[in-house]
Amino acid sequence: MKLEIQNLNKTYKGGKVKALCDFSVTLTPGVYGLLGPNGAGKSTLMNIITHNIRADGGVVKYNGEDTNKLGKDFRTVLGYMPQQQGLYDDFTANRFLWYMAALKGLKKKEAKLKITRLLDTVNLTDAAHKKLGSFSGGMKQRVLIAQALLNDPEILILDEPTAGLDPKERIRIRNFISEISENKIVILATHVVSDIEFIAKEVMLLKNGSLIACDTTENLLTRIENMVYEIKVPDGEVEQFEQNHNVSNIFRSGSDVIARVVSDSLPDELNKTKVRPNLEDLYLYYFGENNYS
Ligand code: ADP
Ligand code: MG
Repeated sequence: MKLEIQNLNKTYKGGKVKALCDFSVTLTPGVYGLLGPNGAGKSTLMNIITHNIRADGGVVKYNGEDTNKLGKDFRTVLGYMPQQQGLYDDFTANRFLWYMAALKGLKKKEAKLKITRLLDTVNLTDAAHKKLGSFSGGMKQRVLIAQALLNDPEILILDEPTAGLDPKERIRIRNFISEISENKIVILATHVVSDIEFIAKEVMLLKNGSLIACDTTENLLTRIENMVYEIKVPDGEVEQFEQNHNVSNIFRSGSDVIARVVSDSLPDELNKTKVRPNLEDLYLYYFGENNYS
C-alpha cells in the first residue's frame, strides 16, 4: 500500500496566500505525524488528499493511480476526521454514527455490527444514547474518530485529533491511534509535539506550506545533535535571555535559573552543558521566533 503525494500546490485569495508549495512525499503503512504551527498548511493538505478541495497543481496517487481519477473508489478506503467541526449536538452518539454510516453507504447489517464494535473500541458504549452536546471534549473526539473508522479505512487522516483535550485524554487518544494504526497509512496533523513524538513512524515538518523534512524522530534529532544546552542564567537576565535565544524550557534549581536552549551559535564564555535533544527542541529550532533554518 502506497500513497504518493507529488508536487502539490495550493494558493488562496487569488494567489495571495500560499498554503502549499510543491509538497511531495511517499507514504507506506504506519503513523506519520504532520507537525507545524497554525497556518502551516496542514488542513489544506488533508483537504486536498480527501478531495474536499482541489489543488492548483500536483497529484496524489494511491497504489500508482491518480486518486482524482479513482474518485469514489479512493474515497471508500479513506477515513477522515476534520478539524474542529460543529457536531450535531442534538444527536446521540449512536444516531450520529448511524447517520455517518448511511452517508458512507454502509448496509444496515454491516453498520450495526461496525457501530457496536466501534463504540466499544472508543469506549463509549455506555454513553451511546447520550446526546453529543453533553459530551466532554475527549468523548467528542472519540466519536469523531469512530466515524472515520466506519468503513475500515486503509488511509486514516486525522486533523488535530487531540485539540482541546486535557493531558489524560490526550494520552488515551494517542494510545488508541497507535493501536488502530496497524496496516493503515495514518496521517496525524498536530502542533503538539507530544502527540506524535513516540507513536509516529516518521514526522513531516511543514513550514509555510513547504515540507522541510520527513524522517524518523531519531534521524531528525541528529540535525540538532550538538545544539541543545542547559545554561545557568543570572536571575535578572532571564527575560533578556529568552528574547535572544530559542529557550525550550526554564527551571529554577535552588537560587539558579537554568534555561534549555537550542542554538548553533552560543558564545563560548557561557556556562553551558550539552544535553540530548528532543522533538520539542527540534520544533523550536525550526519554528521558534529565533529560528535558524
Ligand atoms: P494549518 O491547518 O496548518 O493551520 P491551513 O491549511 O488551515 O493551516 O492554512 C494554511 C494557510 O492558508 C493559512 O495562511 C490560512 O490562513 C490560509 N487559508 C486556509 N484556508 C483558507 C481559505 N479558505 N481562504 C483563504 N485562506 C485560507
Ligand atoms: Mg488546521
